[in-house]
Amino acid sequence: MQLIFEKSVPGQRGFLNSRSDVDVAVAFPAELARAEDCPLPELSELEVVRHYTNLSKYNFSIDTHFYPLGSCTMKYNPKFCEEIAQLPEFTQLHPLLPQLRHGDQFVQGALEVLYELEKWMCEMTGMDAITMQPLAGAHGELTGVMMMAAYHKARGNDKRYIIVPDSAHGTNPATARIAGYETIAIPSDANGVMDLEKLKECITDEVAGLMLTCPNTHGLFNSDIDKIAEMIHAVDGIMYYDGANLNAILGRCRPGDIGFDVMHINTHKTFTTPHGGGGPGAGPVGVTEKLTPYLPVSRVIQKEDGAYALKYDYPDTIGYIASFYGNFGILLRAYAYILLLGEEGLRAVSDHAVLNANYIKECLKGIYHLPFDRRCMHEVVFSAKNQAERGMHALDIAKFLIDQGFHPPTVYFPLTVKESIMIEPTETESKATIDAFIEAMMAADQLSRSAPEQAHQFPATTPVTRPDEVKAARDLNTSYFQKTA
Ligand SMILES: *Cc1c(COP(=O)(O)O)cnc(C)c1O
Repeated sequence: MQLIFEKSVPGQRGFLNSRSDVDVAVAFPAELARAEDCPLPELSELEVVRHYTNLSKYNFSIDTHFYPLGSCTMKYNPKFCEEIAQLPEFTQLHPLLPQLRHGDQFVQGALEVLYELEKWMCEMTGMDAITMQPLAGAHGELTGVMMMAAYHKARGNDKRYIIVPDSAHGTNPATARIAGYETIAIPSDANGVMDLEKLKECITDEVAGLMLTCPNTHGLFNSDIDKIAEMIHAVDGIMYYDGANLNAILGRCRPGDIGFDVMHINTHKTFTTPHGGGGPGAGPVGVTEKLTPYLPVSRVIQKEDGAYALKYDYPDTIGYIASFYGNFGILLRAYAYILLLGEEGLRAVSDHAVLNANYIKECLKGIYHLPFDRRCMHEVVFSAKNQAERGMHALDIAKFLIDQGFHPPTVYFPLTVKESIMIEPTETESKATIDAFIEAMMAADQLSRSAPEQAHQFPATTPVTRPDEVKAARDLNTSYFQKTA
């Protein structure tokens, strides 16, 4: 693999600007001018197309491979949603359109998208209002906890702690700390959910709230939510629902109905917007009535004449948390997806996501250790401790799967399970694909029995094989990889 600069041939061109027939001489400050030409690669269009197309073939992606990365919900994004997002009526809007503040007449359609999406998401979650502004799940968490803090401040509450079970997503305690709280971690019980007795011991007047990842990172639903909510509300605490994985309960259960006051949604996990390598995403945050005064601005409202407008006049708002209106293009994809599936389709999302995970659980549970042998939700957590004893660790199994044509599942997370392998098939995969994956997992186990000494050889089919992780950490070279003969 060569860099595009190495492929450069002086004089090759992909595109030539036509000569300007307007005589404009621009006086350019001499100190800003380059002494030499800019060192851009010189290539024909075909060479450029081949270079990037071949590079793209080194990627694992949903469009090319099964991607059962637990907790991350790597499901297929229908191309229909991309088409909608590319309509020029949307792409050619600019957030600073001159009339925006005075009448919003150029952006009625875009405002309608935001307004309706809020209403639909309220209906799906049982929340009373939702801000579309947060740019990711973690950003949504921060927004939610900032509103929690604003609530306590307004009521004169003296609060210091946020309770987070050990089966929470790592962003939960991180969010609580960044928002200025100390965290109390509650261990899981033998059923893989938060230990209620331990929780009881930690409830004091200084508890600001509790953040529950639900289903938790063991893929399990907590059926004590009503009791937990009662305990937290008794000390005027706020119940936070980490709804990143709403795809597990969509159309079946609404956080607002079971005692939660605030929650975030990851559109990139439930409503198929792309996970763009860390961004852009969207993490809409819903609140029940008691937190609505603190929502970020602006908010989209519908006026009496039916027109949509942006409203900024909320005295108790926590303020801006993102520029303009959040990641509008991402929200637009979620909007298109909801329309595409409709009520029945959305319910089928959670049905199939849960069914697929349980199918994998049942097929593999005699082969891989299952720490919590009960019905899971959208993902299942195994332990490779038996295989590890034979010399093939979770990491080796992950690398083995790459050669079999599968993106590895999440490994070594959750931290509560030794040698954990966290598999999330999502609802968009066929039974044939899931069966092929199950077979590959079985083959990994077989190898751990027949030839564990081979466990470290994988992957062998990728341009970069198994790196020496110690050397990579100590002697990092990120410039580029060149295969030596
Ligand atoms: C993915 C995830 C998050 C974080 O979302 P980002 O969009 O990656 O910031 C938070 N909680 C849970 C349970 C998640 O799965």
